[in-house]
Amino acid sequence: MAMFENLSKRLEGIFNNLGGQGRLTEEDVNAALREVRLALIEADVNLKVARQFVDRVKEKAIGADVMGSLSPAQQVLSIVNEELVEVLGGENGNNKLDLGGTPPQIIMLVGLQGSGKTTSAAKLANYLRKQGQRPLMVAADMYRPAAVNQLKSLGRQLSIPVYSEPMGADPVDICVNSLDFAREQACSVVILDTAGRLNIDERMMNEVINIRQRVRPREILLVADAMTGQEAVRVADDFNKAVSLTGMILTKMDGDARGGAALSIRTVTGVPVKFMGVGEKTDALEPFYPDRLASRILG
Ligand code: GDP
Repeated sequence: MAMFENLSKRLEGIFNNLGGQGRLTEEDVNAALREVRLALIEADVNLKVARQFVDRVKEKAIGADVMGSLSPAQQVLSIVNEELVEVLGGENGNNKLDLGGTPPQIIMLVGLQGSGKTTSAAKLANYLRKQGQRPLMVAADMYRPAAVNQLKSLGRQLSIPVYSEPMGADPVDICVNSLDFAREQACSVVILDTAGRLNIDERMMNEVINIRQRVRPREILLVADAMTGQEAVRVADDFNKAVSLTGMILTKMDGDARGGAALSIRTVTGVPVKFMGVGEKTDALEPFYPDRLASRILG
């Protein structure tokens, strides 16, 4: 189990001290799970979520037979890994977008300023085009004037159309009008880049609530910066309460972030991570695979 080398070593140490063999005793498991909890917290998992997770594992681990070929440490790791994958969305994850039905289907992106929302709109458009879709991007972020130009420039770069209106237009109208444009241009999927603020405020929330009511997006994806850890959990919870998120794009996973935020967000909101942003370029987007993130979190 080279992939969990760090945690693996720590657990081997514990079991060597305790000398537990044959069957995992409660003492062995408790000592091991203390290390697991620490590893989760180091990976930026929220304290409460780490505790909850460890409790789940504990029930499964106590009294488990130690398989002949596995050391007790490996046995605990294997239960931890299995459980982590399960909590993150199961073996194959839940990373499919629901884009069936009469086109154009609408994907609304929401999130705070700087989270990578505009970049993710372009990455997602590029990704979906490779899957045979005809995407349209919509510049509905009227708070950050540069966002509209940024999206237009990404559109030019990718040769993907961008719908925009002059500064000062109403974001709800922009989104509604963009649908006519999408039909005219025979676009199959419309990606709405909505307003981001530095912090959640009422005006921004009302705006995304209004857009949602008017255009009824099939997917509402939160774009969240993995580097912001605990903050991302609160943001996800607030957006989820306001607009019922269908998924999340976790950005900046190419950085140092271990991705514990994904576990916290998933546990607190139940919202599945669907994609990960892994760089600044427009092809740096990957579907989310729970097993890969589990390895990364366990370090
Ligand atoms: P917005 O304010 O949410 O629309 O954020 P932007 O899309 O403008 O992104 C903010 C910054 O984060 C930009 O410099 C992006 O290049 C960068 N960024 C976005 N996604 C990623 C990612 O997955 N990895 C890295 N390293 N940078 C990213």
